[in-house]
Amino acid sequence: MDIGVLTVFATAVAAWALVAVYRVIIRLDDPHERVFRAVVAGVLSITALAAWSVEVAHHQRQQLATEALGVVSDVKGLSADCERFTEELFNLSQYQGYVYYDGSNVAHLRRKVCHNLWDYAHGGQANPSEGQILAVQIVAHEAQHINGTRSESAAECSAVQLNYLVAEKLGATPEQARDLQRRYFKDYYPHLASDYISGACTEGGALDIFPDRTEFP
Ligand SMILES: [Zn+2]
Repeated sequence: MDIGVLTVFATAVAAWALVAVYRVIIRLDDPHERVFRAVVAGVLSITALAAWSVEVAHHQRQQLATEALGVVSDVKGLSADCERFTEELFNLSQYQGYVYYDGSNVAHLRRKVCHNLWDYAHGGQANPSEGQILAVQIVAHEAQHINGTRSESAAECSAVQLNYLVAEKLGATPEQARDLQRRYFKDYYPHLASDYISGACTEGGALDIFPDRTEFP
């Protein structure tokens, strides 16, 4: 159950709004009091609706990220944990995603990654931004850790070969998905930190997970 500050706030305001509406109803005999109470009830109801729509959007992004992870992992019960706004405020790490090395099946993703993933799936496929390309790759990468791969270079190399499947799941055509894959491998992979790249991540190399294919990735 993913409960954040906003969940508590949205629930409290919704309850408060209900009480306010009830007070309007029981005060129908007093016109003065009624107007004041109606304004209070209106403001609270709008605040509650706004808070709930933001909360629901968070859960929708998280669900989409979970489905994207599932494309490249068969681990049961796996899920994405999208960072909330309040968590982002206190998160100074540079990691875009991580999975705890204890056989965890949860991929923790930065708020921006989940937003980019959502935007990619909702119209970004034809001309993805840098953030969207990286978000698709990060999901494929974290899924490898959930699958049990500890080495960063091995996880990254598998992800480089599988990220097109994540892209397709998020609505890309096969051509768009392969294009994203090529762009990532050409423009971003070579510039990663040294523990993320490997000379074996090449056609016929030790990290080639599709040795029968002649094109890499
Ligand atoms: Zn990693």
